[in-house]
Amino acid sequence: MLLKVRSWIILGYLVSLGMLLLLGVLVFIDLGWVKTRLDHVEAADDLTAIVLDVRRGEKNYLLYRDAGDREEVGRGLDRLDGAAASLESAIDRVPGAAPVSELARSRAEYRAAWESLVTILAADPRQAIGAPDVEKAVERTREAGRLLQETTREVSSRERVRIADILRDSRVLLILAFLLTTGMAVAIGYAVSSRIVSPLRRLEETTKRVARGDFSPVPPGVEPGELESLVRAFNLMTKEIESRQEQLVQARKLASVGTLTSGVAHELNNPLSNILTTVQRLREEEADLSPEERDRLLHVAERETGRATEIVRKLLDFAREHPAERTIQDVSRLVAEAVELVRNQAAIQGVDCEVRVPAGVPGVLVARGEIKQVLVNLFLNAIQAMPRGGTLRVEAHRGPDSFVEIAVCDTGTGIPPEHLDRVFDPFFTTKGVREGSGLGLSVSYGIVRRHGGTILVRSEVGKGSAFTVRLPAGERG
Ligand code: ADP
Repeated sequence: MLLKVRSWIILGYLVSLGMLLLLGVLVFIDLGWVKTRLDHVEAADDLTAIVLDVRRGEKNYLLYRDAGDREEVGRGLDRLDGAAASLESAIDRVPGAAPVSELARSRAEYRAAWESLVTILAADPRQAIGAPDVEKAVERTREAGRLLQETTREVSSRERVRIADILRDSRVLLILAFLLTTGMAVAIGYAVSSRIVSPLRRLEETTKRVARGDFSPVPPGVEPGELESLVRAFNLMTKEIESRQEQLVQARKLASVGTLTSGVAHELNNPLSNILTTVQRLREEEADLSPEERDRLLHVAERETGRATEIVRKLLDFAREHPAERTIQDVSRLVAEAVELVRNQAAIQGVDCEVRVPAGVPGVLVARGEIKQVLVNLFLNAIQAMPRGGTLRVEAHRGPDSFVEIAVCDTGTGIPPEHLDRVFDPFFTTKGVREGSGLGLSVSYGIVRRHGGTILVRSEVGKGSAFTVRLPAGERG
């Protein structure tokens, strides 16, 4: 299923938003944990302070046997019990907790050791330090005190380590979120690029091809919804332009046929008057003619009819819509056929035609009818540019880069420099309304471009012009 571009963008936004929310929640939870652990550290530090107080009281009591010190130790132990109980239950609820059971055990052990020491000393207040059971009780109390001190410190430092762990996890989480977001951005970018940019690029390339006269459609690809209909509309438009172009080419050709007609009529005159004279002689002198002479006259009539038919056939062949199929064409034949079509037009205006196509010029891969039309257009323009006669020279040779060049040169009026880069524009004409449409060169240029070639022009006012048609060689010369 193809998603529309809009759906892609909405999906991208939703996924990014979801990831941001998830990240926010995770960071929020982590910060909560850090706060809880900090509370634990604070409580454990309080415990350490109380234990230090208790131990100071213990030391003083052992030194001075003062009842005040003993009571202070008792009060300290009560405070320790209260604070430790709340810390222990708080820590117990937390996963990965510090060893609170050890704290409870060492607290109980210290209290028991202290109470037994106090009991021994209270039973016989004169008992001096040094008596073995007193020494044992003192040692036990000190040992339990040290253990208690270490345990409270241990709780505090374990909670600190946990805080460091949480902070490290958060950092990893942030890095992961960054990598994921970047990955998402790259993935969405790639999706957008492959589904939007690449079809657009294909459209752009096709536009350039259409401008060069190649009307093949946009190659198929995987387009999202909107672009698919755009590509379809574009291909439809290209097809429409192509058919208009064909109509234009045909219309322009018929216009050339109109121009050629006067020449053709002139050319037809000869065979027709020959036929007429022959038929008249046959009718008038029928009785006097020997069978050989009659035969000869009939033969003349037949030959001249054939000539007239040939002239009409050439014109019709030119006017006909030819298939645009491209085949390798011999350049000298192509040029000769086109010159043949305008020869009479040229003769009427006193224009000599010179054709120079040396042997060895490679053939060109072209649609014969189209290129013949291009040549006829160029020839008619040249003839029209020589109202007082001149020379139409057509030369062909192998050009650089596997191209064949056909140059059409005249000795006519020439083209002023300010018109030179406009002559290929559609509807540009310097001729009268009924003489020129301004489409000849534009249509010819379109045809040659579609064949992968080009038309170049050089001209000098008063001396003449040269139009060079460059076509890719199709070899087989
Ligand atoms: P049209 O012949 O109908 O005017 P074209 O497109 O064939 O249209 O030619 C455009 C213009 O280019 C002509 O009107 C003319 O001014 C100029 N032109 C073309 N070929 C020649 C030439 N061989 N000599 C002088 N001017 C030319």
